[in-house]
Amino acid sequence: MTRLARKIAALVLAVAILATASVANAVAQETADVGGQDDATMAGRKVAVTLDDIPGVGIPASEKCDFEALARNTRNLLATLEAHSVPAVGFVTEGNLCDEIPSARLGDLLAMWLDAGMELGNHTFSHPDLNHTSPPVYKGDIVRGERALRTVLDERNQPLRWFRYPQLHAGDDASVKAEIEIFLAEHGYEIAPVTIDNQEYVFANLYAAAEEAGDDELMGRIVEAYLAHMREVVAFFEEYSVEVVGREMPQVLLLHANALNADHLGEVLFMLEDRGYEYVSLEEALSDPAYALADGYIGPRGLSWLHRWALGKGMEIRMEPREDKHVRELQQR
Ligand SMILES: [Zn+2]
Repeated sequence: MTRLARKIAALVLAVAILATASVANAVAQETADVGGQDDATMAGRKVAVTLDDIPGVGIPASEKCDFEALARNTRNLLATLEAHSVPAVGFVTEGNLCDEIPSARLGDLLAMWLDAGMELGNHTFSHPDLNHTSPPVYKGDIVRGERALRTVLDERNQPLRWFRYPQLHAGDDASVKAEIEIFLAEHGYEIAPVTIDNQEYVFANLYAAAEEAGDDELMGRIVEAYLAHMREVVAFFEEYSVEVVGREMPQVLLLHANALNADHLGEVLFMLEDRGYEYVSLEEALSDPAYALADGYIGPRGLSWLHRWALGKGMEIRMEPREDKHVRELQQR
């Protein structure tokens, strides 16, 4: 090939690449207009919904020791879950109940979850951080977290099966991680992973403070920002599942039993339904072979299991979007 021919060939190639790129951009733009989704992509999406820190977290300060307020939030959450036919699992942190409320009342709140057809799991008694808690103390906190929980489950002949690590901290050292995993297995627990991790709790805390201050306008803006964040995070983990697992396996979504969701969980569920999601039990989600992938992470971070699987496969991890942009927008308006 002459120099001129090579130049022409290079030019033709460059034009072809540009043309392909602009077609790709146009397609991307078009799909972005409908949320980057088409029917084929959305078909068969499944999600198990889990809510941590039962009986409540992220609630206005003046309602923390108000049993009626806790019961109202619980009723609202359960009514929304039932209306959308979501078989959710609630993870109980018994120590979340304010000391001023008689501990016997905790059983009443937990019974509401079971009577609504939901499952309950253990999320420890006092939400200790495994990065800073010795294994014996941590194990004691797990057992202490079973008191009211076992009672309500026994009354219904249901086993205590699920355990969720506070902050998703599963051990920053190989021996600690193994010791707690063995303890959980010996006590009949299965670890409840999370794939769609998110910063919902940040919005929940802002919402509780705005509610305490009686600032309805701010509460409305926080809800908008929360929903925008959740849409972004869900879209991220859909793509990331394909990168890590090769397909969109059933997801496990982490949310909390907070005032924000007591008032607005329905909007999150409509967003999921718009993306084609069908709700499944945690057991069904975990029956997917993806959940047998190795957790390749030992360290202090509370990572999504998708990151843990990526590390197990020797891949580099790509982090999900944070709340920062939406929180900045809230502050600027
Ligand atoms: Zn928690």
